[in-house]
This record gives sequence, structure tokens and C-alpha cells, in this order.
Amino acid sequence: MKINNQKILIAGPCSAESLKQLITLAECFQKVTPSLDYFRAGIWKPRTKPNCFQGIGNEGFKWLNQIKNDFGFKTATEVGTKAHVQQALQNNIDLLWIGAKTITDPFAIQSIADTIQNQINTIAIKNPIYPDIQIFQGAIERLLEANVKEILVVHRGFFTEKSMALRFEPRWDIINKIKEQYKEVTILLDPSHISGDNKLVKEIYETNMYLAEGVMVEVHPNPLNALSDKNQQIDLEQYQNIFSNFYKNI
Ligand code: PEP
Ligand code: MN
Repeated sequence: MKINNQKILIAGPCSAESLKQLITLAECFQKVTPSLDYFRAGIWKPRTKPNCFQGIGNEGFKWLNQIKNDFGFKTATEVGTKAHVQQALQNNIDLLWIGAKTITDPFAIQSIADTIQNQINTIAIKNPIYPDIQIFQGAIERLLEANVKEILVVHRGFFTEKSMALRFEPRWDIINKIKEQYKEVTILLDPSHISGDNKLVKEIYETNMYLAEGVMVEVHPNPLNALSDKNQQIDLEQYQNIFSNFYKNI
């Protein structure tokens, strides 16, 4: 939670694909939400299948640092290993997040926790992909033991075999329990992964936002050509439509 009780907004593409893509987005954010809290972009992508785009890798640091220098936005990227954490910190990434698949793996979380021990005040985590509150609590406790002071828990929905219009099921019962249990936790809503469809992002945002203290949303200048999560990334017009009043509504 920010000191002035304002909500947190994290926006950017699923994956960093090119410098031009990031600049186009940053120009839009500068116009629509100049006080954006973090510009997100995945550079290492935990893709389900090996033949998909796996992320641009270390070259993405140059681009994210150019965005930071030219537009003044803090940057955020996903980490899944000790090496990712070390490289992201060396390259001045402001916020690291641990993804929904990694957060289920106690070996990975312990290794990340050992690497950041006493070095990081704020970290973001996605909820684990399956709704096991114990694995969720275990990840949070490992990070708190590493002396993290604030954990941004991004509610991105949970895998379910139920058939539904959404990609991942929102489970506020679990998220609210986590919020009640740990005073260090701030809850962000991820309407992109919950909906899985950019036409549903606005509705998910509007109907769930009262439960959250911020948002992480995926935005792409041309979602149909995106190299990952192309169905769910909103375009620049949708971003303007949904978020232009974000910092004014408080
Ligand atoms: C992402 O935010 O691009 C991502 C991979 O999310 P998740 O870990 O929630 O699947
Ligand atoms: Mn994504």
C-alpha cells in the first residue's frame, strides 16, 4: 500500500518484444497515466510449451533501462531463478515478480529467498496457479524470512477444470485469507490473466477492483501480433478507456 493510500498501477506488455514496442507503450502511459507506478515487461517467459517464444532475455534490460531513463517509469520483470534475480538486480530493475508457476516450487522460492536475503524491501508474487493455500503461505513465509518488508500479491486467478468464460478462476476467499493473515501483503488484481480475453478485461477490472489495492495489467500496441498472451492484452485505446481516471478516482 502506498503511503497516501493511493492504488498501485503496474502496466506493460506480457513480453518485451522490441524497443519500439516498449516506447509506443511508454508514450501512451505518459499521456494516460503519467504517474504509473511500474512499467512491467517479461524478458524470461515461463511458457508452457518449448516451441513458443521464450522471451528476449538479457537484451531486454537495455530497453527497460531506456524506458526508465527517457520516461521516468520504474521497471518490473519476472524472475524464476537465482540467476534471474542476480541479473535483474545488477541491471537496476526496480521490482521483481515471481510468476504463478514458479511460486508453487519450494526449491525455486527458497533459492530466490536466499538470493534476495536482506537486499529487497518489496517483491511481487503471483498467486500459485492451483488453489493450494498452504503452498501460497509457504512461499510468502520464505520471502518474509528473507526480510522482505512488503509483498505485492497479484491475484491472477487459479487453474480449474470447470468450464467457464474466464481463463483462470478468481478466488477471493483464498486471497482474502492471505490478506488477513499477513500484514506485509498488498493485493493487486490482474484482470488480464483472470479474463484471458481483452474484451473481458474492463468488466473484470470494474467488478473486482473494490477488493484490491492495485492492478497489474497487460497492454500491447498490437495484441493480435503479440508473441505471448495475445488474446488477453488490451490495446492502447482500451488502456485509455479503462485507466485514464485511475489516479483520479481515489
Ligand atoms: C505474466 O504476467 O506474464 C505471467 C507469466 O503471469 P503468470 O505467472 O500469472 O502466469
Ligand atoms: Mn502474460
